[in-house]
Amino acid sequence: MLDSAAFVARLNHALASGERTIPVLLLRLPEFAEFAWRDGKRSAQRIERATTRAFSAAASRVVRDRDLLAHDVGSDWFCVAMLTPARGAGSYATIDARTALERICATMSLETGRRMESGWSIVEGPLAETTFAHVREQALERGARERERYEFLATVGHELRTPLTSIRGYIETLLDDDIDPQTSRRFLETARREALRLTRLVEGILDFSMLDLRAPDKSSECDLTSVARAAIEALVPIARDAGVKLEGEFDGPVRARIDADACMHVLLNVVENGIKYGGRPGIVRVHFERQDPFVALFVDDNGDGVAESDAERIFSYGERVQATSQAAGRGVGLSIVRTIVERAGGAVRVEPSALGGARFCIDFVLAKAEPVPVPS
Ligand code: ADP
Repeated sequence: MLDSAAFVARLNHALASGERTIPVLLLRLPEFAEFAWRDGKRSAQRIERATTRAFSAAASRVVRDRDLLAHDVGSDWFCVAMLTPARGAGSYATIDARTALERICATMSLETGRRMESGWSIVEGPLAETTFAHVREQALERGARERERYEFLATVGHELRTPLTSIRGYIETLLDDDIDPQTSRRFLETARREALRLTRLVEGILDFSMLDLRAPDKSSECDLTSVARAAIEALVPIARDAGVKLEGEFDGPVRARIDADACMHVLLNVVENGIKYGGRPGIVRVHFERQDPFVALFVDDNGDGVAESDAERIFSYGERVQATSQAAGRGVGLSIVRTIVERAGGAVRVEPSALGGARFCIDFVLAKAEPVPVPS
């Protein structure tokens, strides 16, 4: 195992001898500093030695003869430079790097029982020891972005279900019930609108997976009232089947600084949750209040509500509350809601509702107001 000075020297030598690009894999033990601070230096050193052994063992199954392993004693990172040309005919260096990284990371986590951060980068020119620190940072950033994108893609699959359920609900009603021509036309129009939205969602899957990486479009605006009306209409079949009454109280147009599709996504999620987790018979009420420079959207229901201790947790990816776990769901809808709302400069929280259940409060930035700084 090399230290960073020897590692950088060997990389530079390889580059000087004609190597054009070298994939570098990075693994990091994120809790290392905390161990040292909490349990003392000796205990941190023990953990470091065990992690180093796990790294050597895991990497030895993946690396080839010319690849290099590096770690500085007392540091939290472990590194591999893939100097042996790409494995297998026709394989690309990046695919190779990702596969190798995943294998090392999985084996290390299994063996140490600790979470590892990982990422990779490509070195193309001579390195100084200071730029090596930068390469390590870049690699970890790239790893984090790749994981976000992967999780988002998985999440969007779940989100395609809402428009499908709504379309099916309208079609089944049209087939089963005796409905006057005017109402059936309205149902068909709603179903078509949801089908169009479904198409947009499918087409935009890649865009959605990039949601966390792109700067939000600050010029987008929409009228919250018409989006809320459309969301309620789309959910009427689901609400009716569940015995839930949907109510919207709107005074007129309210323009907010958010893209209409993204806003529709947020509303559908929160209102559908109100139906799903609301009382039986249930009531879900949607209304807005202007609170310059925001407009607050409130979605109230009469279900069991969300305990204060769960109020933060339910917005995390994959989190659900035990008591509601019998209802179909995967605990990803609200994490998307929070991402979309925060990207548009707003905020979302849950509190007790006067109706007895949960009140979801979503602040959108009013369109006429100055833009509020968006977290990058
Ligand atoms: P899903 O509904 O698919 O589980 P969400 O991310 O939409 O995922 O919701 C996460 C969790 O938050 C739900 O599983 C449920 O426990 C809780 N929750 C959401 N909305 C409500 C609500 N209106 N009333 C009570 N609990 C809710």
